[in-house]
Amino acid sequence: MSAQTSKKRREFIQQMTGLGVLGLAAAGGIFGAPYLKAEGARLRPPGAVPEEEFLGLCIKCGQCLQVCPYDSIKLEDVDGRASVGMAYIEPRERGCYLCEAFPCILACPSGALDHEHDSIEFVHMGIAVVHDPQGCLAKIGKPVPDGAIDRIYDHTKVLSPEEHRNHKAVIRADDPEKTVLQKKLLQKLEKHRGEQSCTICADMCPYPDPSKAIGMVDAKGGGLLPEIREACNGCGACVELCPADVIKVIPRKSYADLYGKG
Ligand code: SF4
Ligand code: SF4
Ligand code: SF4
Repeated sequence: MSAQTSKKRREFIQQMTGLGVLGLAAAGGIFGAPYLKAEGARLRPPGAVPEEEFLGLCIKCGQCLQVCPYDSIKLEDVDGRASVGMAYIEPRERGCYLCEAFPCILACPSGALDHEHDSIEFVHMGIAVVHDPQGCLAKIGKPVPDGAIDRIYDHTKVLSPEEHRNHKAVIRADDPEKTVLQKKLLQKLEKHRGEQSCTICADMCPYPDPSKAIGMVDAKGGGLLPEIREACNGCGACVELCPADVIKVIPRKSYADLYGKG
């Protein structure tokens, strides 16, 4: 693909539409069938081996979810898309926050989460896409509503009933590390409550240098939009936190798959 074609493709995907991921896939065969398949796929925890191997190796022990300080990992229930007990992440309910030491990977006893992939440069879960740019609050100039921030308190299992009710997370001296981490997340998010031009996705991205994964850029026709960049590893934190629900992660796909190379 020429540099110019690649650039046009990136701009097309990053900046426009309102078609949604499935609409994009259908439009002109840009993505093709593999992306439709990926759209229905599960997002796996960091370090997951290729999907077919993962389905064979995950022994449904739940070790990864027990050590996850953000409660990001779930096990497939009987109504799930893959066999019962498989580990996955539902990013709109809780993304992964890319813990420095990847305790989920270290805890996995079966090789389903590969111990060779226990650092940030090897973790690649998928790739984010802004599937409905016209709904982005930064594009349309709407403030971040209270309800969008309050909703994230429901994702946090470590709050006292009072903290949950009042949407206020207070870090106490005797809070365990897991509680402190989740409360810090809420405290950082609180700074965006009522923000006039939303920057939550770019500001809250847990990648070590978030500007390599996502950044706010001028949008065609005015306003701002997030631009997904090469280091995005599909952790799904932006999917969880976006007040307008306009970001998705396509599991197992890469920046090059979706946006083309530089
Ligand atoms: S990296 Fe951390 S937040 Fe993400 S799934 Fe693993 S333990 Fe949970
Ligand atoms: S942009 Fe950041 S928060 Fe969103 S999926 Fe990529 S790495 Fe995660
Ligand atoms: S989180 Fe990002 S994509 Fe979502 S409304 Fe805010 S700026 Fe737009």
